Amino acid sequence: MKRLILFGAPGSGKGTMGDFIQRDFHLQKISTGDILRSAIQQDTADGRRARNFMESGSLVPDELVIELVRQRLSCGDLNGGYVLDGYPRTLNQAEALSGIASDSEKAFLIEVSETEAVERLLSRMTCSSCGAIYNLLTRPPRNSGVCDLCGGRVEKRNDDNAEAVRQRFRVYIELTMPVIEYYGRRNILARIDGSGAAAEVYERIKGLIA
Ligand code: AMP
Repeated sequence: MKRLILFGAPGSGKGTMGDFIQRDFHLQKISTGDILRSAIQQDTADGRRARNFMESGSLVPDELVIELVRQRLSCGDLNGGYVLDGYPRTLNQAEALSGIASDSEKAFLIEVSETEAVERLLSRMTCSSCGAIYNLLTRPPRNSGVCDLCGGRVEKRNDDNAEAVRQRFRVYIELTMPVIEYYGRRNILARIDGSGAAAEVYERIKGLIA
């Protein structure tokens, strides 16, 4: 089974690129953020545990996320493979992932300036039902507040505020950068210029996937 991994700072466009890849390549997008937000919405025990970490922009404990991913990967609906958005974010998670076999594995690091990323995050809107990503300035939904794809409610994520965003960047540098270096050393990491419009960034990634 094919495995792609998307790395990048908060606001770099991992989720949007994951959606495009899922649409064009028959790879299932797996976003740990979406899985956790849905657990919170359904008020499960996992959701209740994750909530405060997420709201403050900190990472949810490894053992919870690792278990959620393990469960998701054993669902049997992944046919051709999957693209991971937001996982692994720590060395522990990377180690757990390397214990799950894949036929081919490739990672992308989407690079964008912090200024551009923060601007995107602060104007981002997300569908509360299907997780589709919009931007009030550059990619608004056709009808205000309504998801183009599923008709769900489009709203601001409650960790897309200045304070949580600062913490998410700190966590990214401290805990996720070492993971990216690890993939770099394994020579399976491609660096992508993530600046500009989503369609332009996707053009830079697309040719490297097949
Ligand atoms: P995201 O939707 O990828 O921006 O993730 C939103 C939030 O969910 C993060 O700030 C973390 O609190 C939590 N989260 C998502 N993925 C992970 C992960 N792999 N490990 C720990 N926490 C995560």
